[in-house]
Amino acid sequence: APEAGKKPGFFGRLIGRGGEEAAPRRVLDDEMLESLEELLIASDMGVETALRVSANIAEGRMGKRLSVPEIKGLLADEVARIMGPVARPLPIYPKRPQVVLVVGVNGSGKTTTIGKLASQFKAAGKSVVIAAGDTFRAAAVEQLKVWGERAGVPVLTAPEGSDPASLAFDAMTKAEAEGADLLMIDTAGRLQNRADLMEELAKIVRVIRKKDPSAPHNTLLVLDATTGQNALSQVEIFSKIADVSGLVMTKLDGTAKGGVLVALADRFGLPIHAIGVGEQIDDLAPFDPEEFARALVG
Ligand code: GDP
Repeated sequence: APEAGKKPGFFGRLIGRGGEEAAPRRVLDDEMLESLEELLIASDMGVETALRVSANIAEGRMGKRLSVPEIKGLLADEVARIMGPVARPLPIYPKRPQVVLVVGVNGSGKTTTIGKLASQFKAAGKSVVIAAGDTFRAAAVEQLKVWGERAGVPVLTAPEGSDPASLAFDAMTKAEAEGADLLMIDTAGRLQNRADLMEELAKIVRVIRKKDPSAPHNTLLVLDATTGQNALSQVEIFSKIADVSGLVMTKLDGTAKGGVLVALADRFGLPIHAIGVGEQIDDLAPFDPEEFARALVG
């Protein structure tokens, strides 16, 4: 996968290309600690997390001479330690259909992620149904149909502007009747009208619970990693609107600022089920904390 590994990480940017060998061992002093903090904050890690990570690295090492590879190693270890617990694939339950509600702001990559996930589940031998729950955006529905075709998965739609909850109910009925393993429900992402959105999502949940009180089994929040610290407020907002159970981070192929994932893990501890690493159907990868840490540090 074209993962984050090709981008220059923190130290790549700090030292410049080929400069690493020339960089001497340096005494870990206040000045160096400060530039480390600045570097981490600039990577979108957030102030709080950046300070804690720096403090952990400095602990017991102040005044010692460290080489750049040593600092990189320490930093990668810290990042991997924070990210380890959140790296969890989407849990699969024996329940049929397993209902996966997908939420997130428009443009975050919801449609694309649903298509990629559908394709992966299909390849794993599961039968999947998709419900195009963003009934107010005709373009979104069309886009989802295209992804459904690519993945070889049926996409249930409703007339433009119709009630998404009623579509969700019909989708539950159909998925149950067909004995589908998974039902993925797309939802609207208009944050401009938060009260409406909240009501809409609450209604969808209410209606699918009429069919299955244990549903939705997963509520996936799709976040665009390139939005940096914005991702943090999106988690806060959507956690109030829906019972977010896990994250998919998209567009990690296009940003050198994956640091926001560390901030997210540190602050919310929500599982990261997968990462989007491109626009194609196979560009969805499991989240690998070690690889991520190495790529981020550079
Ligand atoms: P939605 O409005 O949340 O449904 O977002 P879309 O799925 O339509 O995605 C918005 C844009 O982001 C599209 O141009 C996608 O091709 C693009 N996109 C989605 N995921 C990724 C990703 O992981 N990497 C890249 N580079 N682009 C992505």
